[in-house]
Amino acid sequence: MKKIAFFDTKQYDKKWFDRLNKNFDIDYYTEKLTPKTARLAKGYDGVVAFVNDTLDSETIELLYEFGIGVIAMRCAGYNNVNFKAAHNKIKILRVPAYSPYAVAEHSMALFLCLNRKIHKAYNRTRDFNFSLNRLTGFDLNGKTVGVIGTGKIGQIFIKICKGFGMNVIAYDPYPIENPDFQYVELEKLYRESDVISLHCPLTESSKYMLNAQVFEMMKDGVYIINTSRGGLIESEALLNALKNRKVAGAGLDVYEEETDLFFEDYSDKIIDDDILARLVSFPNVIITSHQAFLTDEALRNIAEITLGNLEAYFNDKPLKNEVCYCQKKGDVTSECN
Ligand code: NAD
Repeated sequence: MKKIAFFDTKQYDKKWFDRLNKNFDIDYYTEKLTPKTARLAKGYDGVVAFVNDTLDSETIELLYEFGIGVIAMRCAGYNNVNFKAAHNKIKILRVPAYSPYAVAEHSMALFLCLNRKIHKAYNRTRDFNFSLNRLTGFDLNGKTVGVIGTGKIGQIFIKICKGFGMNVIAYDPYPIENPDFQYVELEKLYRESDVISLHCPLTESSKYMLNAQVFEMMKDGVYIINTSRGGLIESEALLNALKNRKVAGAGLDVYEEETDLFFEDYSDKIIDDDILARLVSFPNVIITSHQAFLTDEALRNIAEITLGNLEAYFNDKPLKNEVCYCQKKGDVTSECN
């Protein structure tokens, strides 16, 4: 049996991998994969990693030295992987989609909660405070939602918004054919949306796409929802936009500096990140710690596809979920097969 080192394990991962795994000898490590912990992978044939593992050139070199030939990412995003370092050394596989519904539904959950102040009402009624003061929201029907990125998750989010009677405008450099919504330029989307939801990947060009200048363009009282990647938003600019009341609320499932914090319990510690601490303190900000994917359906699919990816690699089958550095394009691609 091939031996697999599984990093950053949580009980909900283990439950599904144990249930579905038949062909691998998996050791589960709670440590995140970093240059410091990479030595744990010595003696293994493959590695399973996750979104906040550090797959930089140092980690990749170490894994390569230990004879690791494959890293199976149990996630869709791969902005934490140095593909150039892995090129021709280690295959990087991923789970391109596991449940776009989980993420799209969480995006709407964040927005509904913020708009209708459910988080505040929950606390109030537990204290037998049945006052309605300051709980007023607005109807979604007829409001304009700006969706950035109309891939798998964005398209489902659009369907959900349409179910609420919202007017949908969207931006994507690769528009879908025959959309039942309107594509617009980014600037128009920023200027006209009552709520903006991010569903695009983090790349060099999309980093900080929501920055101080862009917040300035937006409608007063806009809502921002981000379940994609933290680095899409310049957090300090968001903080300022909340402070000067430009942004009426933000629902964030991701945060640019989440790597050392999210998925862990720091309830008895002092958090050094002042921007995050301030954001958490706002009554009109809801932060969830990268949990948008966390449904039974998604976890099952993640385990099934990751195990399938490893089986394909070890049995020399085509790697349909490979992502790699393409020398010709000088870029990362999942189109190399
Ligand atoms: P996808 O690849 O199906 O769609 C992404 C879309 O974004 C594509 O249509 C692409 O053309 C578009 N795009 C690329 N660059 C863009 C840009 N600069 N501006 C606007 N659009 C751009 O991906 P998906 O499955 O819909 O996932 C979307 C994002 O959701 C992922 O990148 C990932 O970061 C995030 N995600 C988060 C979670 C979570 O738990 N929070 C889980 C899964 C995925």
